[in-house]
Amino acid sequence: MGFFKKYLEYPIIYKVAIGFVIGIIVGVVFSYALDVGVLSKESLDTYLKPWGDLLVRLLKMIVAPIILFSLIVGAASIRPSKLGKVGVKIIVYYLLTSALAVAIGLVMANLFRPGVGLQLVAAEKEIAVKKAPSLVQVLLNIIPTNPFTALTNGAVLQIIFFAIILGIALAYLMESKNQRIRESSTIAYKVVDGLAEAIYKIVRGILQYMPIGVFALIAYVVALYGPRVLGPLAIVVIALYVGLFIHIFLVYGSILSAFKISIIDFLKGAKEAMLTAFVTRSSSGTLPVTMTVAEENFGIKRTVYAFTLPLGATINMDGTAMYQAICTVFVANALGIPLTIGQQLAIIITAVLASIGTAGVPGAGAIMLAMVLEAVGLPLTDPAVAAAYAMILGIDVILDMGRTMVNVTGDLVGTLIVAKTEGEIDTSKPIWKKQQ
Ligand code: ASP
Repeated sequence: MGFFKKYLEYPIIYKVAIGFVIGIIVGVVFSYALDVGVLSKESLDTYLKPWGDLLVRLLKMIVAPIILFSLIVGAASIRPSKLGKVGVKIIVYYLLTSALAVAIGLVMANLFRPGVGLQLVAAEKEIAVKKAPSLVQVLLNIIPTNPFTALTNGAVLQIIFFAIILGIALAYLMESKNQRIRESSTIAYKVVDGLAEAIYKIVRGILQYMPIGVFALIAYVVALYGPRVLGPLAIVVIALYVGLFIHIFLVYGSILSAFKISIIDFLKGAKEAMLTAFVTRSSSGTLPVTMTVAEENFGIKRTVYAFTLPLGATINMDGTAMYQAICTVFVANALGIPLTIGQQLAIIITAVLASIGTAGVPGAGAIMLAMVLEAVGLPLTDPAVAAAYAMILGIDVILDMGRTMVNVTGDLVGTLIVAKTEGEIDTSKPIWKKQQ
């Protein structure tokens, strides 16, 4: 009992960090054991993987309810005009930073030149470019034909849409002159508010399991994709991670410092969410943690983050956009066809769009990469393209960890500065103390 109590009282982030480090060490040992044949992948799958899957399932379990409840409450407590302002600001921020991420990715790719010398021979094939859905169709798809189906399918944009209009409707009704309507809508609001609080309570419980889940997730990845699989693709990994690092410190660092927030203070506050993203490889799975961090560490009001974070987890993927740019150059280099500046500019637009369309789940960016490749004239129907693409897939887990971490970091930076410009921040949190 004593140990359990001590465990609960020990700060979560330290526990998670310990789980992470032990996970890496154990993973390296397991990777060696796999190599010499004293351990099989089956036993890892049976005895190790489920502990990580448990964390991912717990987080996923609360994603749909957390978006729904907190966004209804958020939308009901903010003026619609203010919600509109928050929306415009955050979308501009999301688009700009994604484009910058792609640009940094292209610079990295030109510096590191991944794939050069691989000499896969391109087949002279007709390029079959798949048609992307039209903008109108994309926008129409935000409106759910059945909100309950949207919830069961975890269609985030549709849930956001429905929750916002429900929240706005409740806000109006709570000011109705009709007493019955006023009272009943206030009760409805309070019920949803209570449910949102209950969900946050559950998140805090899940966070207590996180160290074990993180340990299992990282040990499994290191065991299976440890140093030995990297080989010729190490350059891709290095180019991406250096690019991600620059994006965090240069782009996020400058944006934050323009708002008088130091990047170091920010990272200290964001680390639980960043680490969760890194090991779960899912922005939407990390959402419950990102929301908790926004509220508890940064004091951001629910009116803002309940809207901007789920939206960001769905459409804002700076890490993914950068990854798509670097991998596209890798494939072109591997085939010995260097991309022109014009093609590289096309990558910026396509990669930003593709990252918007990427779902916040593990590996989704790799699927969208196929679309970017096609768009620049490197279709998968070409066996050489397919071979280079398959090489990337082989190490996608490692790339996915870093890019997802940056995806989530970007959502938090945007949410923080929008909340700051709107004054929707509780400045009694320690991070704001230094500034006053
Ligand atoms: N795993 C990423 C995310 O959830 C998406 C991707 O695969 O790029 O943010």
